[in-house]
Amino acid sequence: MQYPEPIARLIDSYMKLPGIGEKSATRLAFYTLGMSDEDVDNFAKSLRAVKKDLHYCSICGNITEDDPCPICKDKTRDQTRLLVVERSRDIMAMERMKEYHGLYHVLHGTISPSEGTGPQDINLESLLRRLEKHKEVQEIIVATNASLDGETTAQYLAHLIKPAGIKVTRLAHGLSAGADIDYTDEVTLFRAVQGRTEM
Ligand SMILES: [Zn+2]
Repeated sequence: MQYPEPIARLIDSYMKLPGIGEKSATRLAFYTLGMSDEDVDNFAKSLRAVKKDLHYCSICGNITEDDPCPICKDKTRDQTRLLVVERSRDIMAMERMKEYHGLYHVLHGTISPSEGTGPQDINLESLLRRLEKHKEVQEIIVATNASLDGETTAQYLAHLIKPAGIKVTRLAHGLSAGADIDYTDEVTLFRAVQGRTEM
């Protein structure tokens, strides 16, 4: 039996989410059908708003409602340090820790030879332009994940930035191999930042 078109379309949409197969998507679609009109309206509005109201900060690449983002705009933050992360949600993790007061830069990915992504596919060009413009930056803290691609990216950044006389450091390996920054607890993150080593 074929599902009615609206349900089939909703199942297709759910299947676009990571980790959702056909079975889960079908369950979610029928669950949605049973939700109140109000809840479904709010859900639909949230989906639209996340695309409509959020943008990437033109300076650091973080997701933000305002451009530049509140962190880039905050002149009380330490302007001499830039912490480089893979994704916006890594910034949230660092901010939860409350011990880092410098600025950020989001790469939106990693250099990954196995996946065929190179330096041109990540938000790297804007980092280099930023460093040229803001000579006050003295340290780049590379906080890419402790995965193979995260390491490759860290090495590449160090190779690129160190000749400019800027110190490049890497988070200490309190982080277990393969660890995602945003799944790491505050204490471990704090130790990793405190114990960072020069590359
Ligand atoms: Zn920003």
